[in-house]
Amino acid sequence: MSEVILKNVRKVYPNSIEAVKDVSLTIEDKEFIVFVGPSGCGKSTLLRCIAGLEEVTSGEIIIGRQVVNDIHPKDRDIAMVFQNYALYPHMNVYNNIAFGLKTRGYSKDEIGARVLEAVKILGIEEYLKSKPRELSGGQRQRVAIGRAIVRHPKVFLFDEPLSNLDAKMRVSMRAEISRLHKTLGVTMIYVTHDQTEAMTMGDRIVVIDKGEIMQVSDPHTLYFKPENLFTGTFIGSPQMNIFSGAVTSGKFLSENLNFSFTKRIPDFQSAAVGVRPEDISLTSGNIEIKGRVELAESLGDVTFLHLNLNNQRVIVKTTLEKRFQINEEISIFPNIEKFHIFNLEDGKRIEF
Ligand code: ADP
Repeated sequence: MSEVILKNVRKVYPNSIEAVKDVSLTIEDKEFIVFVGPSGCGKSTLLRCIAGLEEVTSGEIIIGRQVVNDIHPKDRDIAMVFQNYALYPHMNVYNNIAFGLKTRGYSKDEIGARVLEAVKILGIEEYLKSKPRELSGGQRQRVAIGRAIVRHPKVFLFDEPLSNLDAKMRVSMRAEISRLHKTLGVTMIYVTHDQTEAMTMGDRIVVIDKGEIMQVSDPHTLYFKPENLFTGTFIGSPQMNIFSGAVTSGKFLSENLNFSFTKRIPDFQSAAVGVRPEDISLTSGNIEIKGRVELAESLGDVTFLHLNLNNQRVIVKTTLEKRFQINEEISIFPNIEKFHIFNLEDGKRIEF
């Protein structure tokens, strides 16, 4: 069993920064879980606490039923893959991968077998004699992952492992790490600031903001039922459009968007409607708003239309094959059935 349990974990750095605030979470055996959040939200600190590279200020970390707070990182049965691969430049691939096992005193035969198994899984057998400088970024990252694989750890920890790769390589390594997870059948904890990476890789995603968990869900739930404004706006690109206003006597009133709820809803003095760019039609709907085109970004199959509605920027994602003129006034039709409503006093989702 390689379940990882975090119980009220808190980390305050000596400079008084509270990087992790009372985080409790159970990561299931063999799960691929992603910690995602903006830079500085505390996701790396949390990962480093699990690895034992940082001591927790309070709380408990349990790996495979054992409390590991006082256990040295190298005895925690985990392996970590970093953003900067930290390969030894003077060693070839074989020795880079074998290094950790050598220092742990494994036999030559055992090391050979494990390295061979790892390079086969990663498809880098032919580079065993190459030095890191002779490899591409993606190959170097595979070597770094190889070093983790040979340890046969209970849990793999990844700290932004793909950030140094170009966009194309990131996409292919993303798929490779997901495949690796299935092949190895182990628990993986993966840290990224990139919500696309999180959405495509995680069985579950932990959204973190300012050291606190905002939501833990599968990607689908996170996208379609964000529990709070932070998650709603953090997940999804382009970002969800937000209309701030109030709910009064069953109506939502704001500068640009006004409508009546069909179900009973209490009053909220400060509320927001979130509408994803793809949930606004340019052809028909119950609510019509006029706006001016500021920018049309065409990606070929879709266009991101940036509109100005009385100085509010709204982005519409459309597959309409139409040329939009800058400053042209057009009608948009937000789909009321896809609205997300948030109470701005506490940021929480309002069900209606
Ligand atoms: P993230 O990985 O989400 O970018 P970090 O976990 O690196 O965030 O950092 C969380 C907060 O803790 C930030 O405010 C950061 O400045 C602070 N921090 C990180 N490492 C240290 C450290 N060693 N000493 C003091 N403060 C730190």
